[in-house]
Amino acid sequence: MSQELFLFAFIDICGGLLSALLCIYAYYRIRNAPGGIFYILGTFCCMLFTFFYVFELTSTTLEHMKIWLRLEYLALPFIPVFTLFMCMEYVGVKWSRRLYYFFFGLPSLTILIHYTNDFHHFYYKSVGVDTSGAFPTLSLEGGPWFYVHSFFLYACVLGSIILLLAQLRKGKARRFKWQIATMTAGLFVPVLGSVFYLTGLSPNGIDLGPISMSVSFIFHGAAIISLQMFSVAPIAREKVFDSMEEGVLVLNQNNVIVDFNPVMQTMVPAITSRSIGKSVKEMLKGNESLLDIVVKGEKQDYMQETLHYQIKFTPVLHRKKHLGQIITFVDVTERILMQEQLKAIASVDGLTNVYTRSFFLQKTDELFDLDKVAIIMFDIDHFKRVNDTFGHKAGDIVLKQVVQFAKQHIRAADFIGRYGGEEFIICLPNTSQLDAVQVAEAIRHEVEKNTVKVDEAAINVTASLGVTSAVIANNESEQLIASLMDEADIALYEAKNDGRNCVRSFEKSAGILTT
Ligand code: GH3
Ligand code: MG
Ligand code: MG
Repeated sequence: MSQELFLFAFIDICGGLLSALLCIYAYYRIRNAPGGIFYILGTFCCMLFTFFYVFELTSTTLEHMKIWLRLEYLALPFIPVFTLFMCMEYVGVKWSRRLYYFFFGLPSLTILIHYTNDFHHFYYKSVGVDTSGAFPTLSLEGGPWFYVHSFFLYACVLGSIILLLAQLRKGKARRFKWQIATMTAGLFVPVLGSVFYLTGLSPNGIDLGPISMSVSFIFHGAAIISLQMFSVAPIAREKVFDSMEEGVLVLNQNNVIVDFNPVMQTMVPAITSRSIGKSVKEMLKGNESLLDIVVKGEKQDYMQETLHYQIKFTPVLHRKKHLGQIITFVDVTERILMQEQLKAIASVDGLTNVYTRSFFLQKTDELFDLDKVAIIMFDIDHFKRVNDTFGHKAGDIVLKQVVQFAKQHIRAADFIGRYGGEEFIICLPNTSQLDAVQVAEAIRHEVEKNTVKVDEAAINVTASLGVTSAVIANNESEQLIASLMDEADIALYEAKNDGRNCVRSFEKSAGILTT
């Protein structure tokens, strides 16, 4: 074997081994990456092609050379097709099934024509051995299909390059720039190899195709591996962004909408697919309250129809520069309703439906911008007996009924609290003592005249009431209401002492007065 032949055979074997290694590596590492499967198929075909080529190179007879050449053609026509499909998958382009048939059909036809060339010479016009070089090589003169096939191969490579370059121009591909550039560079290697071969620049007329293809797959492999690493994160991020329950709106430093997720559109209908690139102020023109919050940029609650949102702001900083902000809308309706319910439960007495004692006190805090206030405290007389005679359940009904009687004689601004047991307290804002006594008397009368029917039983009760009032000076505190309650209690105690079923009024100077 001549030295040159040995060298070429050695280089080719290295190329074949390289393809084999890339193929095995790809099988284990990148078969699920975009383009991974076609990469595996491509490197596998490339390996076959290269090894068969070594046998062709080292063959000495035309017959042997032709056998190996035919075997090479089992793999060669598919390599550019796999490369093209690898690139398509890599950049995420989907083609119709028909095109796939075409791209696999044409190389299959090439193989058939190549195999039957001896009968029609449609692929090679002539096949001979060139012995002018350092070692014998095949001398092939292309026929019509040879050119069709060559055109197809170059078209596949050109198509791949166009696909990648088009992707490079797209905004989204910017972060994958290097990966796509590497992939594209890989495509140029076999092109250069075949230019050398076709222009007769390759040494001894040997085909540089096999080795250059193996080298090109190193580029492709590197691109796929790095894309696999980088592509998962943005895709995952996008998925999270789209499936978030919170509405997210992204603004740049000029308050122009640059992105938002689908939930955002349902939360704020003013934001539509055409909002991108428009000023948020323009988009929210009809919704001043929301616009105010967005312009202020401070965490705040916002109510739209029956829904409550909490709006949060996160600045987008890059190298200490303010690039914009992310506005998050969190639906807190359930929490707010729950809070309201809890507040209602805590503020209203379950049995009688009047304020609890603590909430009543809280309500009285709001009174201090008034001129005066009156307090009535009342307690059902001998209520123990009602319970003892008719049972606790009947007692409950009576209790509720008495509250209703009292409510009939108070105004909308007045409010009742359950002071404890069967003792109640009424606050009458802006009411004089005299008027309050009249209200108390009306309640007393109402309770007395009515009979509460529980099942078969007719229950009559009476109540005792104590009344007091005060003129409110500036900045008066809770102490006033506390002392008013004490006074009302004293008056009520007096009413009890005076035989019950009566109203007693607390007079600050003269003590207790009977009405
Ligand atoms: P008086 O006030 O006239 O002095 O007599 P009284 O029998 O009403 O006396 P007291 O205030 O000591 O008794 C109140 C009773 O009210 C005792 C308690 O069992 C009953 N009571 C308190 N809360 C409820 C309630 O929610 N339901 C029922 N059925 N009874 C209650
Ligand atoms: Mg009582
Ligand atoms: Mg009592």
